[in-house]
Amino acid sequence: MTDLSGTLFAVLAAIIGSLIGSFGNVVVWRLPRGESVAFPPSHCPRCDHRLGPLELVPVLSWLALRGRCRHCGAPISPRYPLVEALMAAVFLTVALVWPPLTSGLAFLPLWTVLAMLVMAALIDIDHYILPDALTLPAVVLGVLGAFLTRETLTSAAPDLPTPAAALVGALAGAGVLALINRVGALVLRRFADTKERLFPVSLDQVNVAAVVGALAGPWWGVAAGAASLLVNLMARRTLRLPEPLAYGLLAVALVLSMTTFTVPTVTAVGGSVLAAGAWALLGAAYWWIHDLVRPDPAGQTEDDQEPVAMGFGDVKLAAALGALLGWEKLLVCVLFAVVLGALFGVVGRLAGGKRVIPFGPYLLAGGLAALFFGDATIRWYLGMLGVG
Ligand SMILES: [Zn+2]
Repeated sequence: MTDLSGTLFAVLAAIIGSLIGSFGNVVVWRLPRGESVAFPPSHCPRCDHRLGPLELVPVLSWLALRGRCRHCGAPISPRYPLVEALMAAVFLTVALVWPPLTSGLAFLPLWTVLAMLVMAALIDIDHYILPDALTLPAVVLGVLGAFLTRETLTSAAPDLPTPAAALVGALAGAGVLALINRVGALVLRRFADTKERLFPVSLDQVNVAAVVGALAGPWWGVAAGAASLLVNLMARRTLRLPEPLAYGLLAVALVLSMTTFTVPTVTAVGGSVLAAGAWALLGAAYWWIHDLVRPDPAGQTEDDQEPVAMGFGDVKLAAALGALLGWEKLLVCVLFAVVLGALFGVVGRLAGGKRVIPFGPYLLAGGLAALFFGDATIRWYLGMLGVG
């Protein structure tokens, strides 16, 4: 009986995944273009023929029609069935690793968040944008999903974070990527300090939070960011701590943590990452809601408006992944992503490819690998160190 219900659920998971993948293809095309994802129904882009129910069957319809429109014969990109197959594989793997019989409803938040992130990563490949409309809700759903996971457990699902661990994972994801972004900008001397949209909340709060977090731990870092925001509000303008100075102070704070003057190094590193992550997410959420409430009539695109430098989409993506993974496996995820990115970057260059793949898809691939194989990787690594 158990086997049969497990198999049935796995088949169902693959079917649901392929249908979500089919819907995802629509979202990936329409969302960045500001079109409705619900209307009009799917149609051939060349002859406008509306797709019937049989033509909407994921993967199989494409194979049956040999990748062409039934009416005008226009070729249909193999990317559509590939995305459907990918989503089916993700849903199926989640169903096999966390079957409802042992893990309750743990699969639901995983399906939801991963589906949103796959769509975001595909949009990143096409447009170099990770839309806030997908990544920020994914962060919230990832953290809230941890409650669902815990509540409904009939037996332990030790690989999934508790709600507190999910929140720490989300902050760690945002913080690690935000600090990599800022330190990278420093090293490459690419200060894309924008003049506009710094008030009241911007990278300044992230920087202040990182410095104070490294000196006194995460809570003080978060409080310092809040104090900096308050000062801005009272002064009615942005009082800035220049970035070279901020990151100089951060380095000093980290060195001090190796002495006995301040907090221990682990607290300093964690405090700076978590506090920076908290303010990166708060700032991102502020500007997202700001633009939803008061869209700019000038019709700027999302990347003009990004209050913080390019690449901050990755911060939100890493936060959503961190909520699913917890901080330990998030580090595995970032490591996988960097290795994958470097590997494919070299291969792509050798193959003469000119189109740069953004970091988002690598981050998601690293996240999936860490989610499904992270525990084994951590065990192997600790074993190498002789700890495990
Ligand atoms: Zn057609």
